[in-house]
Amino acid sequence: MSKHYSASSEEIKRLQWLQLEKQLLYLQKKSGFYQKVFINNKIEISKISSYEEFQRIPVTTKEDLQQFNEEFLCVPEKEIIDFVTTSGTLGKPVSFALNEADLQRLATNEMESFKTVGVQSKDVVQITTTLDRRFMAGMAYFLGLRKLGAGIVRTGSGSPQMQWDSIARFKPKYLVAVPSFLLKMIEYAETHNIDHKNSSVKAAICIGEPIRDLDFKLNSLGNRISKFWDIELFSTYASTEMATAFTECEAHRGNHVQQELIFTEILDDSGNPVKPGETGELVITTLQVETMPLLRFATGDMVSYIDEPCKCGRNSLRLSPVIGRKKQMIKLKGTSLYPQHIIEVLNDFKGISSFVIEANINEIGTDEVVVKIPDSFNAEKMDLLKKHFKSKLQVTPILEVVSLEVIEKLKFPEGARKPVVFIDYR
Ligand SMILES: [Zn+2]
Repeated sequence: MSKHYSASSEEIKRLQWLQLEKQLLYLQKKSGFYQKVFINNKIEISKISSYEEFQRIPVTTKEDLQQFNEEFLCVPEKEIIDFVTTSGTLGKPVSFALNEADLQRLATNEMESFKTVGVQSKDVVQITTTLDRRFMAGMAYFLGLRKLGAGIVRTGSGSPQMQWDSIARFKPKYLVAVPSFLLKMIEYAETHNIDHKNSSVKAAICIGEPIRDLDFKLNSLGNRISKFWDIELFSTYASTEMATAFTECEAHRGNHVQQELIFTEILDDSGNPVKPGETGELVITTLQVETMPLLRFATGDMVSYIDEPCKCGRNSLRLSPVIGRKKQMIKLKGTSLYPQHIIEVLNDFKGISSFVIEANINEIGTDEVVVKIPDSFNAEKMDLLKKHFKSKLQVTPILEVVSLEVIEKLKFPEGARKPVVFIDYR
């Protein structure tokens, strides 16, 4: 059990602040990028002793990271061990790097994340995501489980056949998986006479796609999985930039923040912290990172937080599922929504196996959304889907039927590590 498991929230915050001060001094000494920021904004790091003073530091944007990438590097290049890139959901992927200390930190981070789920050293975990493709998380799962002492099956992404073969051979209790891939596995099991309901798998740690609503109930994707395969679903949320995982415990009410590894702020449009339960942008400062630490990095992810003790006994902060990306907000006929809202409606509609959502700006300068659905859809089904949209969102995007092949091509572009269901052309 982690030493922070039952610490009070005050104690957690005190230890977090000490780590934050350390990281600030480190940045002042080592980071070309932040040295400039401090000078340009007349910020004296040694004098920062409250959140109000800390807040004077400007946020770091994704564009900063892209444009001044090398200036973020705080160690000599010969110290770097693992070279990775961000997922590049918005814009081009950005280079990141880890040294020995960062890989150790990453292992601790992921070990604690698995412990939050309840994984023990005696358990076997099958990793159904890639460990390659410059993907930090894949390596993190492996390192975390190794540090925990659990058994690991590295099947990698894709190939439901190999996933089921490995489940039969090695009897994993847990899967690490992209939720929509679990649907593929269920489909494969059903068409190949595999008794998936009685397999060794008891739970899945779900990455990349939300499985819960803001009220923490399973969303349509989560429900769809549960309906056909009654395993416990845990969400985990992370990114390369954050180098830290936020993970659900058995209470399934928000993702726990590992406060000794990351400092989180949730800010409104004017840069002020929101109250618990209110939505804002997640801004993070990595703690204990040596190679490419980030200070007040604006993630673009819209979340809310809970500041109460959790049923599991932990007193750490918890984050809601990600509601959407700040830049992906769509104004459709006067209604503000995020791609996730449209994804929800589609996942909730019976009989759509695959789809892609595209956002554009039309000739009069307003947002336009096109949902590409398979041409197996007839006029009657199309009508039902339109009505379904109207009742759930009050607005209907443009529906366009194309071949399944076209959808799959858009969904899995060359080199993608996760399926892409929302494409923003704005
Ligand atoms: Zn909890």
